[in-house]
Amino acid sequence: MRCAPSVTPHDFELDALREKYRHERDKRLRREGTAQYVHVTTDMPDFWEADPYSPPVVRDPVAADIDVAIIGGGFAGLLAGAYLKKAGVKDVRIIEMGGDFGGAWYWNRYPGIQCDNESYCYIPMLEELGYMPSRRFVDGVEIYGHCRNMGEHFGLYDGALFGTMIRSMIWEEATRRWTIKTNQDDELRARFVIMATGPWSKPKLPGIPGLASFRGHMFHSARWDYGYTGGGPGDPVLDKLADKRVAVIGTGATAIQIVPILGQYAKHLTVFQRTPSAVDHRRNDPTDPEWAASLKPGWQRERQENFYVFSGEPFPSKAAEEDQTCDFFTEVGRNVSGRVAAAGRELSIEELVAIREEEDYATMERIRRRTDEIVKNPETAEALKPYYRYMCKRPCSSNDYLPAFNRPNVTLVDVSASKGVERVTEKGLVANGKDYEVDCIIFASGFEISAQDQKVASGIEAIDGRGGLSLYDHWSEGYRTLHGMSSHGFPGLFFTGFTQGGLSTSVTAMYEQQGEHIAYIIAETMKRGAATVEATQEAQDQWVSTIRELAPPDTFLQECTPGYYNNEGGGHGGIRAAVGEPYAPGFYKFGDLIAQWRDRNDLSGMTLIP
Ligand code: NDP
Repeated sequence: MRCAPSVTPHDFELDALREKYRHERDKRLRREGTAQYVHVTTDMPDFWEADPYSPPVVRDPVAADIDVAIIGGGFAGLLAGAYLKKAGVKDVRIIEMGGDFGGAWYWNRYPGIQCDNESYCYIPMLEELGYMPSRRFVDGVEIYGHCRNMGEHFGLYDGALFGTMIRSMIWEEATRRWTIKTNQDDELRARFVIMATGPWSKPKLPGIPGLASFRGHMFHSARWDYGYTGGGPGDPVLDKLADKRVAVIGTGATAIQIVPILGQYAKHLTVFQRTPSAVDHRRNDPTDPEWAASLKPGWQRERQENFYVFSGEPFPSKAAEEDQTCDFFTEVGRNVSGRVAAAGRELSIEELVAIREEEDYATMERIRRRTDEIVKNPETAEALKPYYRYMCKRPCSSNDYLPAFNRPNVTLVDVSASKGVERVTEKGLVANGKDYEVDCIIFASGFEISAQDQKVASGIEAIDGRGGLSLYDHWSEGYRTLHGMSSHGFPGLFFTGFTQGGLSTSVTAMYEQQGEHIAYIIAETMKRGAATVEATQEAQDQWVSTIRELAPPDTFLQECTPGYYNNEGGGHGGIRAAVGEPYAPGFYKFGDLIAQWRDRNDLSGMTLIP
C-alpha cells in the first residue's frame, strides 16, 4: 500500500499552544520526580513475585558450572539465546522469574492486551521461524505463543530455570566465573552472563498516602487477577465484575487497552487520569494472505528499517509515500518527509526544525479534535485531550477507548490539578476532595523503567565485579560501557537494553542487534581458548566520550510533560531519559559500527582472559 501524508489541521496559534503545553506540564510536575512512586518490595509479593499464571516451582537446588547464563527469558533473553545457538554455543541456560518464556508478554496478560507497534516489525525472527502474525496488531496471547516457539526452535527450554529469581551475582577471580545465587538456592558458576531483565519487568505503584489501608481488592495490571474479575488470558469475559465498582489508576498504553473491557463488564468504572494519552484510530486488519505471499526474503528487516526511518529519524530520508507502516507511529515523520519533498530545495536545519515542530503540533491537534468528535460530554472530551508534543509519551491507538467514556457506567476523574490521586482510604479513593467508594483498585501505573534506579529495576541485590566493585556504584554517575554491552571490571558480563547503544523505536530490533553482537563475542572468546573476555578501560572511556560528545541537548525531553520517558520531569537527579544514553547518529548507524567491529575480527578494545 502506498501511503500519503495525512490530512492535519494547521489553523492553530502555535505560540498559544506552546504556552498551553508549558502550563499543562508545570501543572503535573512533581519536585520529588521518581521518588513519588513506591517500590514493590519482597513484603508485597502479590505485586511482583507471586505468579498468577503458573503454580509455584518446587525443585531441588541446581549447582553447576555452565558456559552462559542469561538472566531473563523475554525477547531480549530469547534473542541472545537464539544467536548464541546459531553461533554454536551450546551450554546456555536461561533463568527466568516467570513460569515460562515471554517476559513482558508472560506477565502482561490483562484483558485486551495487544501489540502497539505493528506486529510485522515488532515480533522478531518471523522469517526464520516461518511465522506470519494473524493481523497488524496481534493479541498478547499470540505474541506469548511466539516467545514459546522461539524457545522450542532454538532449544532454549533445555536447562532453563523458570520460577527463579536472581539474588546475587559475584565475580570470582580465582575461577574466572560469576557465582549466581537464586531464590531457589541454586548456585550456578557461569563464564558469561547476559543481563536481559528488560525495562518492563518490575511493576511500580504510585505513592498515594493510605495505600495499605484499603480493605477492598487491589492488583497491578501486570499481575491480572482473573480469579477476581472472571475470564482468562485471551478470554476477556470479566463476568465477575457485574456487581463491582472498579477504579483504574493510570491512563497510559496499558489503561487504553483495559478500560474498554472493564467498562463493558464492571457495574461502575472510575478512571483516575493525571495525563491523558494521545489515542488515534486503530487500523487492525487481518493479514492479507496475498500480501504475505508476495513478500521477498529479507522483508522483515527492511520493514523494521523503514519503520525506524519514519518513527525514529527527525527528518526522514525517504519519500513520504514509502512509509510501509503508515499509522500514527510514523505520521509525523511521514508528514515532515512530504513537506521536505514539496519544498523542492535543500532546507536549512532551522527550517527543518520548524517544519518538524509544526507537523508535530498539527498531528496532536488532529488527535485532540478527534476526541471532540467521539466523546459526547464536552468537559470529559476536554480532559481527555493531550497537550504535549508527540513522543513525549507513548502514542496509542484504540477504536474503543474514547467511546468507553460515553457509557453511563464509566466516569473519568481528572486528577491533574492535585498531581495525582490524593489519598486511599479503607473504602476507596479521594480525589479533588471527593470520596469514591470502590470494591477494587487496578493499578495501570507502569514499571520501574527510569534509568535512575538500576538496583530497584533489576531486583538483584548485588552485582559485584572485580575487587567487589558493585555495578550499581560503577554506574551511579552514568553508564560506563563499551558499545553499551560490557563494562571494564566486569569480565564476561554483558548488558542488553537502553545502555549507550543503538536506540530503535522497536525494542525487539534493538535486542536482536545486541544479541547478535554479544553472541559473536562469546563464541569468539571460546573459539580462541580464553576463559572469558573484558572491555579495556581505554576502550570503555573512549566509548563513553564518543556517546557524550555526540549527544544532542535534551531540550525536547525537558519540555515534555512528566512521565517515565523523561525521568518524571526531573526532580532529584535532573532529566535523564529512560532510554539511557543512545548513540546519537542512530540505530542503524550503530548497527554498521558494531558490524564493522566484528568484521575486523580482532576483538579490539577487549582483553581475552586465560
Ligand atoms: P505508564 O508508565 O505509561 O503509565 C502509568 C500511568 O499511571 C500514567 O498514566 C500515570 O500518569 C499514572 N499515574 C502514576 N501515578 C499516578 C498517581 N499518583 N495518580 C494518578 N495517576 C498516576 O505505564 P503503562 O503500563 O501504561 O505503559 C508502560 C509502557 O509499557 C508503555 O509506554 C509501553 O512502552 C509499554 N506497553 C506496551 C504495550 C504494547 O505494546 N502492547 C501495551 C502497554 C504498555 P502520568 O502520565 O501523569 O504520569
